[in-house]
Amino acid sequence: MATYVHRFADGGKDDKDLLGGKGANLAEMVKIGLPVPPGFTITTEACRAYMRDGVVPPELRVEVTMAVREIEDAFGRQLGDVRDPLLVSVRSGAKFSMPGMMETVLNVGLNDASVRGLAEMAGDERFAWDSYRRLVQMFGRTVLGLDGDLFADALDTLKAERGVTSDVDLTADDLRGLVATYKALVLEHSGREFPQHPREQLDMAIEAVLDSWNTDRARLYRRRERIPDALGTAVNVCTMVFGNLGEDSGTGVCFTRDPATGHSGVYGDYLPNAQGEDVVAGIRNTFPLAHLEELDPTSYRELLAAMRKLETHYRDLCDIEFTIERGKLWLLQTRVGKRTAAAAFRVATQLVDEHLITLDEAISRTTGEQLTQLMFPQFDRSGETTLLTRAMAASPGAAVGEIVLDNAQAEARAAEGASVILVRRETNPDDLPGMVVAAGVLTARGGKTSHAAVVARGMGICAVVGADKLDVDLTAREVRVDGQVLRPGDVIAIDGSTGEVFLGEVPVMDSPVMRYLSDGLDAGLAAAPDDATRELVVAVDRILEHADSVRTMEVRANADSADDALRARARGAQGIGLCRTEHQFLGERRHFVEAVVLAESDEEREAALADLLPLQRGDFVGLLEAMDGLPTTIRLIDPPLHEFLPDLTELSVKVALAERDGGADPRDVKILGAVRRMHEQNPMLGLRGVRLGLKIPGLFALQIRAVAEATVELRERGFDPRPEIMVPLVGSVREMHLVREEALGILTEIGRGSGHLLDLPVGCMIELPRAALTAHRIAEEADFFSFGTNDLTQTTWGMSRDDVEGAFFHDYLDNGVLTISPFETIDALGVGALVRVGVEGGRSTKPELKIGVCGEHGGDPESIRFFQGAGLDYVSCSPFRVPVARLEAARAAV
Ligand code: ADP
Ligand code: MG
Ligand code: MG
Repeated sequence: MATYVHRFADGGKDDKDLLGGKGANLAEMVKIGLPVPPGFTITTEACRAYMRDGVVPPELRVEVTMAVREIEDAFGRQLGDVRDPLLVSVRSGAKFSMPGMMETVLNVGLNDASVRGLAEMAGDERFAWDSYRRLVQMFGRTVLGLDGDLFADALDTLKAERGVTSDVDLTADDLRGLVATYKALVLEHSGREFPQHPREQLDMAIEAVLDSWNTDRARLYRRRERIPDALGTAVNVCTMVFGNLGEDSGTGVCFTRDPATGHSGVYGDYLPNAQGEDVVAGIRNTFPLAHLEELDPTSYRELLAAMRKLETHYRDLCDIEFTIERGKLWLLQTRVGKRTAAAAFRVATQLVDEHLITLDEAISRTTGEQLTQLMFPQFDRSGETTLLTRAMAASPGAAVGEIVLDNAQAEARAAEGASVILVRRETNPDDLPGMVVAAGVLTARGGKTSHAAVVARGMGICAVVGADKLDVDLTAREVRVDGQVLRPGDVIAIDGSTGEVFLGEVPVMDSPVMRYLSDGLDAGLAAAPDDATRELVVAVDRILEHADSVRTMEVRANADSADDALRARARGAQGIGLCRTEHQFLGERRHFVEAVVLAESDEEREAALADLLPLQRGDFVGLLEAMDGLPTTIRLIDPPLHEFLPDLTELSVKVALAERDGGADPRDVKILGAVRRMHEQNPMLGLRGVRLGLKIPGLFALQIRAVAEATVELRERGFDPRPEIMVPLVGSVREMHLVREEALGILTEIGRGSGHLLDLPVGCMIELPRAALTAHRIAEEADFFSFGTNDLTQTTWGMSRDDVEGAFFHDYLDNGVLTISPFETIDALGVGALVRVGVEGGRSTKPELKIGVCGEHGGDPESIRFFQGAGLDYVSCSPFRVPVARLEAARAAV
């Protein structure tokens, strides 16, 4: 018989594939002797079988029976017994945490009979009925699929009738009545009675949790987080412990360090006399953990000891869900805690200083994505601001946008290009589509562990939560704060690092981390407003410095101007991997190119090129001076010539109109002729790159000459310029041969004339499948390779990026043909195979061949990992992403 069920005692933290994250960590806690209520985990294998067959595997029922009976026997209680009932929770738990996405049902086993047993056992009628009404409510919503508002409204109505504001003030009789109301709602809206049989409840709850893997919102979340749909969830069945048994009971969530700021020292929320869901749902405002120390010092100390044990065991920041039942502490969940970008860097270096992890591990604990978040601007506070309110800083960042109150509004305004801030009383998983498009989230209720906070941190958007002065009125469609009335469309600014909410625009400024990256450690420290930020800047510096010492790939930048080059160099670029020279021909210089194209004789063309020479030389002098001593790859002109010429249709109309009105400008007529001649159906596959250089005599020669002269000039001024000449869009070794001959001729001639040895490397881009496939031949004529993965992706897929992204990528992501755009993350299977073939071919001819990549992929973490595996020598990316690539290249190497 397959084993679909594992006792908590049978597993450990490394069994996440099979037991899910929650199950694996519950097992680990049992293993290290922490107090976990007894239970078992139904494996992800069962879920996969269920997804495959559409029915729960029959063996599962049997195994569940055996596992339940074991617990029953150990405790001398039975599930749903009339006297002293065993109750369980049925909890989802996939390999990767999907906060709030999936279902959990508490208090399974309660029915009209066992509720009395529970009351008797606890000596508390009110508690028993409160637990029962929670079961009917959760079961109705989660298992039977009823609208949660039905129950919430009934509860609100009852509170209003009784004139109370908190659930805690409802009496046992009130709650008994509420159970009757709830059961009637179940019957009315689902057409069936609330199931009284405990085992039926258990089986239905298990099935509901399995089903929750495939809800729309869970799928949407997985697509965003790139979690495969095939994994399935585990289901944890866990003996209930009660935090709602009076004032000596309660429930909470805590962290071994602050997950928002990374501040060392424990951190958490506690809610007396409540069940776990109350904290997570943000229904009542919680107390800081310190409150527990006053209420129940023994449990508090025990909790601290458990936190220390967990942090030592996992050697990382842990988050923990716990419940205290009449003075007895129970741990219900732990995991290595999610954290903000700032916290990731600070905690990693704190753990290094505490000798719990090595610097190599610290690198693997921080990501390029997190570093990117820290590079974003923050609010500039020097001017006047209007503070509306201050609440909990739940996810950092500075967001300015107009208020939207629901998904529809958020999506509509975002589609129109507006920056929006989703303002809600509290969020729940249904609000995900609105959060996805929002710049920030502001809620009136909930703590740092509420849904809004957790999800926003995961998505890297800014969030302020628990703003209790905020009155979000969806009926009037307005938000009231201290007498002020705001409506959708009004602009607010929220600071997810401080919790401030401002009325109107607030200007934003560079982040201190960005200052550090651009201008060095002292500048970064000077820009940091407080100690926490100073610690952060130092942490980033230490981690990047170590990253530089362990990575094996170089990081270069794509830069076309001296300014960009200097910026990239300051951020740690070790060279320029791609200077796109065509960018130097745009703008005012466009007419020089026009002249080259329109030239009717060799003399005319040569004259036009001669005009361009000093300009190009000047460009290269600037660039090479900025990159003094570092390799600087200059790519010969690449784009189709029509990009320099006017639009065919526009010019035709202009000429036609002018002719009607008495005669067109002869120059326009001439240009029109050229535009017609050069017009292409598929410019991306037309006259560009090396083809252009071979067709228009003197064009590449001009650029090569400019590079050579700039090199001579700088050497004579005492610099050490290191240009590398790169030929684009090569498909055949013969193309490369022709350009190389020309280049060597020019370099020799200028070298002789100036008395300098100009042995500049001449290499090529590998951006056509044929180039990759014939790389062994091309390498005979190339001193280096650089993969142009943008074009290589276009030509491998046969898709022009500009044409397809808007047209059908969305459908392709929906139907799963693509899981992510291949222009964002390299398609390792297809395009990646060509990269591997190209590397192998090139190095079979020249074992020492230097090979890099200069497409957008050079700055993408997952792609960087691939390039490391493929044996590349360097990645080249935008100046902004250089620090990210430094970190990611190190992460790929350790
Ligand atoms: P999530 O993954 O959404 O956190 P959980 O399965 O952890 O869902 O459960 C939701 C809430 O119910 C949590 O606060 C948890 O602590 C609480 N809970 C789950 N199982 C039990 C139990 N056996 N006894 C008491 N509280 C529980
Ligand atoms: Mg939980
Ligand atoms: Mg290209």
